[in-house]
Amino acid sequence: MTSREGRIAALLARPSLSGLLDALNGEGEETRIVGGAVRDALLGEPIGDVDLATTALPEDTMRRGRLAGFKPVPTGIEHGTVTLVADGIACEVTTLREDVETDGRRATVRFGRDFVADARRRDFTVNALSLDRAGVVHDPCGGLADLSVRRIRFIGDAATRIREDYLRILRFFRFHARYGSGSPDADGVRACIAGRGGLAGLSRERVRAELMKLLVAPGAAPALRAMAEAGLLMPMIGRVPHLARFEAVTEGGGEGVFPAFRLAALAVGVREDALRLREDLRLSNDEFDRIERIALALEGLSGRGSPATLAQLRHLAHRLGQDAVAAGLVLLAGRGAEAAGRAQAVIAELARTPPFQPTGRDVIALGVPAGPRVGQVLAAARRAWIEGDAPPHKAAQWRFLDEALRSTGPGRAAD
Ligand code: ATP
Ligand code: MG
Repeated sequence: MTSREGRIAALLARPSLSGLLDALNGEGEETRIVGGAVRDALLGEPIGDVDLATTALPEDTMRRGRLAGFKPVPTGIEHGTVTLVADGIACEVTTLREDVETDGRRATVRFGRDFVADARRRDFTVNALSLDRAGVVHDPCGGLADLSVRRIRFIGDAATRIREDYLRILRFFRFHARYGSGSPDADGVRACIAGRGGLAGLSRERVRAELMKLLVAPGAAPALRAMAEAGLLMPMIGRVPHLARFEAVTEGGGEGVFPAFRLAALAVGVREDALRLREDLRLSNDEFDRIERIALALEGLSGRGSPATLAQLRHLAHRLGQDAVAAGLVLLAGRGAEAAGRAQAVIAELARTPPFQPTGRDVIALGVPAGPRVGQVLAAARRAWIEGDAPPHKAAQWRFLDEALRSTGPGRAAD
């Protein structure tokens, strides 16, 4: 276990980063590592993106970055952000800013030289730490104390900070789920409840990004429960959340770490839910496809008097994919290791289903002219094969094909 000092030193000594910091410091300018990287280095968590804040103006940052061998990309130059790329790393360098006015979503900014003002503009105390070139951690908002007790706390008056940007409601629970311990800060929760009307006005892309991160955080289940109790979850997912189910599937890890699966666990019962979430959260096609198939699997698996037979599961898996049926079985398994074990045993049995070998080409070779009937014969053969316990051998499979040819209309009359 490396010490806190060791981890800070290792961050500063990262090869391209140290070169960049050298280039962006001096000649009257100062550049620091800010935000998440400092927080994560202090905690010993894996460090994601490294963001820098600087007193240098954007054009100067570009010039200095270029001299240090980086390729500068003006990714948000009007807000003072330049991305510097080298050796597979990309660093966002943002010139210090001060808010001038705000309309609840966007802030008008002007450049500043004040690291303390920059820290105060950030959302939570633990996100307002900065690290200078010499290895000093600057903590103008009390973030170190909060970090040591794992408390996510708004900087300044929580209600005011939420009115500046309602996304902070979601970020509050996201960071609590990721880093917090115990219940979320009561003052923060009160302010989130008071500000919840502002959630509806947020861009769906921003909501989506935060929610997806929240769903896979280690403390997602209790954080989502706290959100539900505060009346914050229904407006976002458009239905009563499946909290118990979410809790059950997140206990084990495993399958549960995919954001789309976790979203399905929390917010999907029927296909309608998948369609609504696609709109509300701007799901990608892949995410929607997965969630829709899980929804259809849930529809197919639930509401029966008795558990589905293996043949029924195989039919469903053929239509929706084994992964979707497996997800459905996990979601419906209920709580506890024993229930999960039973579901896994069924999933393993389903996965042992051998492939059905005949193809449309084989149907045509048997004399059916190319056309819709080819698919019908093949589907009928496959259905009968599943009902007949899905034998793996080629000869047995072809018998089902012959049988389907005979039973679905004019046999080989065509030739
Ligand atoms: P992660 O590892 O999840 O990316 P992060 O701390 O880097 O964590 P980001 O969302 O990437 O989080 O934001 C980077 C930093 O920018 C934050 O640490 C915070 O200081 C600041 N920040 C981001 N979004 C906001 C916001 N809506 N309001 C105030 N400050 C913000
Ligand atoms: Mg980040």
